[in-house]
Amino acid sequence: MTMTQAFHRTPRDYLLAEEPDDPVLFLSPETLQATARRFLDGFPGLVTYAVKANPGEAVLGNLLAAGIRGFDVASPAEIALVRSLAPRAALHYNNPVRSRAEIAMAGGHGVTSWSVDAPGELEKLAACGVQRGSEVAVRFALPVSGAAYDFGAKFGASPKLAADLLARVVKLGYRPALTFHPGTQCIEPAAWTAYIDRARDIAWAAGVTLERLNVGGGFPARRNTADIPPLGAIFEGIAGATCAAFGGHAPALVCEPGRAMVAESVSLALRVKALRGAEVYLNDGIYGALAEMPIMGMTDRLRVMAPDGTPRSGAATGRLIWGPTCDSLDRIPGTVLLPSDMAEGDYLLIDGMGAYSTATVTRFNGYGGLRMATVQALAEA
Ligand SMILES: *Cc1c(COP(=O)(O)O)cnc(C)c1O
Repeated sequence: MTMTQAFHRTPRDYLLAEEPDDPVLFLSPETLQATARRFLDGFPGLVTYAVKANPGEAVLGNLLAAGIRGFDVASPAEIALVRSLAPRAALHYNNPVRSRAEIAMAGGHGVTSWSVDAPGELEKLAACGVQRGSEVAVRFALPVSGAAYDFGAKFGASPKLAADLLARVVKLGYRPALTFHPGTQCIEPAAWTAYIDRARDIAWAAGVTLERLNVGGGFPARRNTADIPPLGAIFEGIAGATCAAFGGHAPALVCEPGRAMVAESVSLALRVKALRGAEVYLNDGIYGALAEMPIMGMTDRLRVMAPDGTPRSGAATGRLIWGPTCDSLDRIPGTVLLPSDMAEGDYLLIDGMGAYSTATVTRFNGYGGLRMATVQALAEA
């Protein structure tokens, strides 16, 4: 990805000045830092950022500038990246399956917290010399409720196994914690509170006093115009459930937002390459920054602008959207409402595109070369 140094006030100013034919992602540092402060001020515990949602250096740099001091990392590359920018940040290595070489690398980079969901992985940490006094968080999973898709399908011990693992964590001299991930884009506080109640049961069954409880990510972003992500209610729900479950022995809380931290700070500008009746051919698609749309549903946070900067305002018309590759899977499922006066050469601006966009882009068929630019504001005043 190339990072443009030129500074433009808004995406519109950039598009008018540069007339880019390739997709461009616009980052607003102000929006990103404001979101980070919302988490730091509102969440009742330590806020760590899940790097996989968007590992861009400008993103990480702005989160550090806003005061984020902990990162949820899942691979040696993520560990090395965060360390290169933040020599003292807390690194929580929460991919519960690791090779011995990965454990050695992570230990050398000062990882202080590790998650496990199987006995073999816990013994591996001990065998690889992970120091006593490090935190080991046992990851557990419940049948999913309220998430856009299920993270528990891959990782997470049953509550019974989690209790056994937690007792073993203490025996091995590690600091005991529990962790879970309720799924992504969860709207209801209940997605977290059900897990917090079970965490208490697991700790009780293990006879262990938890030092920390990591409530994962899953906080919602604004994916549609009508959505108001209820972050405040979720923070209150988490604080209230922890207090109700643990009373005076409440563990310290940790969260690891990815999507909700970064989504709102980036808008994506795509260009209309061709129009054939109701069919629109764009310069990016599901192998690029729109990878999530088939899984999560298409966002309606769309604006269309003519090359001279005029907003298109024709009646909303159902369109079929194709990406640029020669693969017939490369389309947005269903129809998408776009202005009737849209034309070849127009720009389609999509808001709320900071998470799982640049992170998963491929170079399939030679596309996917996303440009990134910094702007003062994402919308016109
Ligand atoms: C992906 C992931 C996150 C971030 O999830 P979001 O839904 O983007 O907030 C947090 N923790 C872990 C362990 C993850 O794998």
